[in-house]
Amino acid sequence: MALRVVDKLRRKWTELTDPASPPISCVEIVEQIKVQGEMLYGLENCELFASAAELRSRANFVEDLSQLLPEVYAVTRELAHRLLGMRPYEVQLMAAIGLHGGKLVEMQTGEGKTLAAVMPAVLHALTGKGVHILTFNDYLAARDATGLKLVYQAFGLSVGVVQEGMDADSRWKAYAADVIYATAKEAGFDFLRDGLARHRHEVTQRPFHFAIIDEADSILIDEARVPLVIAAAHEISQTNFSQVAVIVRQLERGKDWEIDEHARNVQLTMQGAHRVESLLSCGSLHLAENTLLLAQVNQALHAQVLLNRDVDYIVRDGRIAVVDELTGRVVADRRWPDGLQNAVEAKENLVIQPSGRILGSITLQHFLAQYPSLAGMTATAQSADVELEKKYGLQVLPIPSNRPSIREDLPDHIFTHRLEKEQAIIEEITLMHDRGRPVLVGTSSVEESEFFSVKLGELGIPCRVLNAKDNAAESEIIANAGAIGAVTISTNMAGRGTDIRLGGADEQQRERVVVLGGLFVIGTNRHESRRVDDQLRGRAGRQGDPGSTRFFVSLEDPLMVRFGIENLIPRKLRPERMSIPVGKPMVRREVERLQRIVEGQNEEIRTTLERYSAIVERQRKTLFEWRSAVLHESISADLFSLNLAERYSVFSKVFGVVEMEQVERAITLHHIDYAWAEHLAFVAEIREGIHLVGIGGMDPLSEFEKRVAPAFGRVHHEIENRIVESLSKLALSASNCSDSVPRGPSSTWTYLVHDRAVTDLHRMLHGPGSTGAAAMNAIMIWPLFLAREIWQRLLKYPKQ
Ligand code: ADP
Repeated sequence: MALRVVDKLRRKWTELTDPASPPISCVEIVEQIKVQGEMLYGLENCELFASAAELRSRANFVEDLSQLLPEVYAVTRELAHRLLGMRPYEVQLMAAIGLHGGKLVEMQTGEGKTLAAVMPAVLHALTGKGVHILTFNDYLAARDATGLKLVYQAFGLSVGVVQEGMDADSRWKAYAADVIYATAKEAGFDFLRDGLARHRHEVTQRPFHFAIIDEADSILIDEARVPLVIAAAHEISQTNFSQVAVIVRQLERGKDWEIDEHARNVQLTMQGAHRVESLLSCGSLHLAENTLLLAQVNQALHAQVLLNRDVDYIVRDGRIAVVDELTGRVVADRRWPDGLQNAVEAKENLVIQPSGRILGSITLQHFLAQYPSLAGMTATAQSADVELEKKYGLQVLPIPSNRPSIREDLPDHIFTHRLEKEQAIIEEITLMHDRGRPVLVGTSSVEESEFFSVKLGELGIPCRVLNAKDNAAESEIIANAGAIGAVTISTNMAGRGTDIRLGGADEQQRERVVVLGGLFVIGTNRHESRRVDDQLRGRAGRQGDPGSTRFFVSLEDPLMVRFGIENLIPRKLRPERMSIPVGKPMVRREVERLQRIVEGQNEEIRTTLERYSAIVERQRKTLFEWRSAVLHESISADLFSLNLAERYSVFSKVFGVVEMEQVERAITLHHIDYAWAEHLAFVAEIREGIHLVGIGGMDPLSEFEKRVAPAFGRVHHEIENRIVESLSKLALSASNCSDSVPRGPSSTWTYLVHDRAVTDLHRMLHGPGSTGAAAMNAIMIWPLFLAREIWQRLLKYPKQ
């Protein structure tokens, strides 16, 4: 096996070897690790622990950690064998070498990425600087931290785990550890919380050093554009979402509103606008005083038309729970941008939940850029390798599987119509079930999963449903999904991180299922990204098991319709309605092409959004460098002594220089945070309307920059003025001067802005949609937008 792997990898590694560095290939390093390993076999446990401790002390003296790699990996390997009963395979050593080299390693499902990551984590943690392992969810963070702790501890390294809902003290302790397991989302939220700390001891995270991202393509590509938001309680907006929802429900498609070609934008027509005006008796929607109302009408329309219950969200315990399109799960804390979230609540007649004042925000992409070195692992990276390298400088490194994969990926069955496709899926499930072969059906929504479950129920075929509505029994359902005759219907939930063992919980049955051909995976739709389809396929054929996969597609599927399969296959070339799959190679080619086109479009969306967020991120960095210096370094009451010299001398005599420094620090931090929140609100307003400049032939992005750059330029000056003003109002009578210093927000909460809405934002930023109605609307709103913006800027940011 080793030789075959060696052959496969030699070329890849030669390509990746930096010509400037000594040409040591991965294969040679693996050999070195094995040689080192042979010397460890005969050691007593205590001797092995002593070697680990010795490596730890040597790590302080080496110039380059790579020098220690073979020894550290060999000792870790031996420890994993003795303490966990698992000796990392050679392919896992290769992955571990790649991770140390800052690569994105691609390993098939079930190949043991978790264990592979331990070796680079140990190596980097020996420096004492802290390694973050960013897992896909909280459950995996806790599982891996607990499961692998013994190996780390043998090196004297501590392990921390961060979980949603943990208090600040526990977080602080977790981040103080040498190896920290957390989701990227939680680590990002903590970064935002730390950015609001008023005292040094409140900062939970140490300076970042090295992170290994699990399921890296999902985090670095699909989730990267999702903004993490921290907000403070804010009074609820009193505007009437419910009334608007009732009115929007009465509007008619075609007459009052139109939808764009990809069903991503909905717009009021002129007639629709008049109808709303008369129903609300509000006068023209385009009057300045109706700005908020117009926004609410648009959001209510979006909620009504584009967001579907049991597809995009479910209603649980009287609240909206947003369903993640990629994972099919309800994501805790995820909400649509304010306004839209409230509009959906109104649509469903729920209590309107308060929004918040946004204090800080960062996209996952920008958060991850805070780490000086990054590495990643996933089973599906190759189709996105160009983007990963361009955006993160991460090269994809495919690692061969430990045992050859015998999974059979059958060609798609493409149908002309949806009904026939559904019928064929039911027949396929029935056939497999009758043979006793376990089937996993991957559907695209909660609604679809329920549809198939009902249909199978009618035929008397028992099945388990795994979707966002009921995930309490998830692990039990997965544990049995590989059992004889099991039929499991799932949304994308059964994608990443789900390990389906053949035979289910009963080991005895394994051989029977192997003989039957292993797990049969059915995809009921193609997804927007091939990576999501590949994740579903990856549930079958793990670690050399047999298994098959097949996708069923119809030319009527939402994806095909939204992205215009009829333009790719003109109607006259389209086959007549058939009950059997279409055999024409041209149809197959075009279906595949459509998926690649969608992937290209989504990449473009990400790139555009990134350009906008990069501008704000640069500003955040500048301001936060100042903030960080104020928090961590000694400031000797500069502004106070310089601007209010007399007052300063009186105060410092009464309260002391140290106290005055603390007071000035607290006041400065307060004004920085306040001004940044104001700036973020201003940026949001600009972004909301910036697409309209496209009508005048201007480039929205450069206009956006032209508007937010000078506004930010004034922020610094404004903060200084406010600090001096606050200092001049300090009360000498207070027994303790710091009593009169403004406090930070009493409570904050965090959430993610939902991906889909961000996509719509892209449409906005790119210019009006292609429908006539959109252009009409834009033209009508444009003068209003300008007037509003000028008005707000005059109010908020008087020229210096
Ligand atoms: P992946 O994340 O790559 O899909 P996991 O890390 O979840 O895979 O590992 C899959 C299974 O293989 C786990 O049960 C794990 O304990 C086991 N495993 C991983 N590496 C080894 C090894 N070297 N020897 C034995 N079992 C292993």
